[in-house]
Amino acid sequence: MDHTLIDSKPVMSNLAFETVQNVAILGATGTIGIQTLDVISQHPERFNVFALTANNNVKSMISLCQQYTPKYAVMLQEQAALALHAALKAVNASTIVLHGEQALAEIAGHIEVDTVMAAIVGAAGLHPAMAAARSGKRILLANKETLVMAGSLFMRAVEEGGATLLPIDSEHNAIFQVMPRQRAKNLVDMGIKRVLLTASGGPFRNASLDDMRAVTPEQALNHPNWVMGPKITIDSATMMNKGLEVIEAHWLFNASADQIDVVVHPQSVIHSMVEYSDGSVLAQLGNPDMRTPIAYGLGFPNRLESGVSSLDLIKIGRLDFSAPDFSRFPCLRLAYDALKAGGTAPAILNAVNEIAVEAFLAERIGFMDIPIMIESVLTTSGIEDVASIAQLAEVDAEARRAANIWLKNHA
Ligand code: NAD
Ligand code: MG
Repeated sequence: MDHTLIDSKPVMSNLAFETVQNVAILGATGTIGIQTLDVISQHPERFNVFALTANNNVKSMISLCQQYTPKYAVMLQEQAALALHAALKAVNASTIVLHGEQALAEIAGHIEVDTVMAAIVGAAGLHPAMAAARSGKRILLANKETLVMAGSLFMRAVEEGGATLLPIDSEHNAIFQVMPRQRAKNLVDMGIKRVLLTASGGPFRNASLDDMRAVTPEQALNHPNWVMGPKITIDSATMMNKGLEVIEAHWLFNASADQIDVVVHPQSVIHSMVEYSDGSVLAQLGNPDMRTPIAYGLGFPNRLESGVSSLDLIKIGRLDFSAPDFSRFPCLRLAYDALKAGGTAPAILNAVNEIAVEAFLAERIGFMDIPIMIESVLTTSGIEDVASIAQLAEVDAEARRAANIWLKNHA
């Protein structure tokens, strides 16, 4: 399997900026979507908002469509699309409103689109991301679940489709920034020993296991450093987010599990690091604000203003580091295990995690039940080699069924 990331082909020239880029934002109403629009609106001469998509948040889409006048708006839900269409018609807006999964994928691969921000949350982001890859788009990938579920197929589609892949997840964006521009097929050929993913440790970094068992959704949704959607915020609290990122790094950088280390760094100032064979460790630093990696992806290979304030190291004063605690954060271990097991194991891990997070937010299970449920379904599921997206859709559905049965028996 080939693992070319991004610039096995020549880096885009500065000429890219002489034409206006048509951007499709998938998941426009989410935290990444809104921050992408914030950066874009700082550079109206460079970017045109061509399409916006969302699940069912009509209210937010009405105002985004009025502000950014996209050619297309796509809602997943038909009812939401009808409501959006009616509201836009009432104000004489010219945006064409579509709905459904098929329309999402069509917009992601639309011939007029140059850049796709893939910022849908969860497994729902896979199909449109695949469509963007196959159509050779410049893909700004925030939806890490795409790589967790279907890393091999997605990376192949990127290569075969001639797409340009830019990681937006802050850790992977940091690693991308400090890796040599001239890519080799594997880390060793680039003189790289390992990558170090930093983790804030989330709100329960120092909590006791007993306290963690009693955690409420409200407490878990209160992330110390980052403002993010609810799913990734819970993933950060369990450290499953870091686990998903280990798998993401595996596919993006062709790194094996033992070439990827996690370091807890509560200040979230160092976004990740790369260790070279000579002992040099290169890091990317900045305030914890996703507009930095988003602006990097939009501007690459140039730098754009993002609106992020300067890093004040004197005010921050110190940077701390510690080892992750696998006993209090079993989700991180489960993700490493799934990566090592390979095949469909990460897709199962991802699907069950999505059900577990929903169940925790609905107060049907406790915080520490999340890893128990995932481990239970993983160990009782058959793991297959990954063959196709259709197979992964089945695996995903089957894992969700098994997770729901577990819930019935335990919640
Ligand atoms: P969010 O919950 O704030 O937004 C999700 C967006 O996806 C919304 O626009 C929603 O309408 C849309 N959506 C949800 N379900 C959908 C479905 N079934 N079909 C189509 N659209 C759907 O999430 P977020 O925090 O912006 O995260 C988006 C993605 O980016 C996630 O994969 C997350 O892991 C990743 N990411 C986020 C951050 C962050 O700081 N928020 C950082 C790194 C990576
Ligand atoms: Mg991240």
